[in-house]
Amino acid sequence: MLIFRQLFDQDSSTFTYLLGDSQTREAVIIDAVFEQATRDRALLEELGLRLMHVVDTHCHADHVTGAWLLKHHLGAQIGLSRHAGVDGADNEFMHGDHVKFGSRYLEVRETPGHTSGCVTYVLDDETLAFTGDAVLIRGCGRTDFQQGDPSALYRSIQTQILVLPESTKLYPAHDYRGITMTSVAEEKRFNPRFGGQISEQDFVGYMNNLGLPHPGQIDIALPANMRCGRPENDEIDDGLPTWAPVKQTFAGVWEVDPQWLVEHLKDVVVLDVREADEYDGPLGHIPDAVHIPLGSLADRTDEISTDRPVVTVCRSAARSAQAIVLLKRAGLSESANLSGGMLRWRDRGYVVIGGVN
Ligand code: FE
Repeated sequence: MLIFRQLFDQDSSTFTYLLGDSQTREAVIIDAVFEQATRDRALLEELGLRLMHVVDTHCHADHVTGAWLLKHHLGAQIGLSRHAGVDGADNEFMHGDHVKFGSRYLEVRETPGHTSGCVTYVLDDETLAFTGDAVLIRGCGRTDFQQGDPSALYRSIQTQILVLPESTKLYPAHDYRGITMTSVAEEKRFNPRFGGQISEQDFVGYMNNLGLPHPGQIDIALPANMRCGRPENDEIDDGLPTWAPVKQTFAGVWEVDPQWLVEHLKDVVVLDVREADEYDGPLGHIPDAVHIPLGSLADRTDEISTDRPVVTVCRSAARSAQAIVLLKRAGLSESANLSGGMLRWRDRGYVVIGGVN
C-alpha cells in the first residue's frame, strides 16, 4: 500500500510530499524545505519509514531546499534534474529515470520552461503526479528568470503532463490560496493560462506580460540551492536546543529519552506535574523531582530554579507536554518533556523514590 502525505510550509507556501511503501517502509520526499526538516524527520520516524531519496522538482528560488539537511541526518540520496546544474546531488536525473522506494517508483519527466531543470515526478500507476512549478492549480510557474522559457513550458505541459490520464491527480510545489490539488481533466479545461483553446502563442503573450516583482527570497535561496541546501561552513541551525539530544515529535513537542535523563539527573531540574496522590502513589517519583501539579503550574513557575534546563514528567507524558507550553510562556524555554513519562521510566527499571514494585 502507498503511504502518502502532503505537508505545507507557511512561509513559502511550499508543499512537501512524502511517499512510502507500507511493506518495505522505504520512502521518498519531494521538495523538502530547510526549516521544516525537523518536522519531516519526526513524521518519518513516527510512521516508521526509512528515507531513501530526497528529490526536488527544480532548483527553487523561493525557499532553501531541505535536501542536504535530510541527507545529513538520515543518509538519503539527493536527486534532481541533470539540467539543474547544482553541486552535491547524488543522482542527476534524465527523462525516463525511475526513483525507487520499495516496490514503487516515481518516473522522471523533464518539464522545462519555468526553469531549464524542472521535472515532474509521475507515480508508477499514473494516479498522482508532482508537477513542481510547471503546473500550479489554475496557474503555472513564472518564466521570466532562471532560464525561463514560456514556449518550452507550454510544450512541457501539453506533451508531458496533460497527456496523463484525465483522472491523474496533480500536486504542485505551491499554492498561495491553500488549495491542495487538482487533476489533469480540470487543468485541461479550466486553467486560465493554457487550458481550453489557448494556443502556444496566446500562452507566450500572457506569460511575457505578467509584470511580476523580483522574488523576495531569490538572492538567498538560489545560491543555497545550487549547493542542494548545504549551509555555508556546514553550520546547522535546525532550531533544536543543544543542551540535550532533544527530539521534536511531529506534534511539535520537545522530548528527551529516559536513558539520557537517568545519566543527566544532576544537570537538569526534573519537574513532576502529577497530582499529590500520584507523586506519592504506586509509580513513585524520580529522585529530587520538584513537584508542582499542572493545575497550579502557571502561578508557581517562579519556584523553579532557572540555572538548569527543566525536564517535565507525568504519568504518560501528556500533561507534561502541556507543562512545556506553560514553562515556555513563563520564559523557561530550556525545557523538554520526558518521553513516555513515569510509565516508560518504570518499564526501563530506573530508580524511583517510593512506589510499589
Ligand atoms: Fe520555482
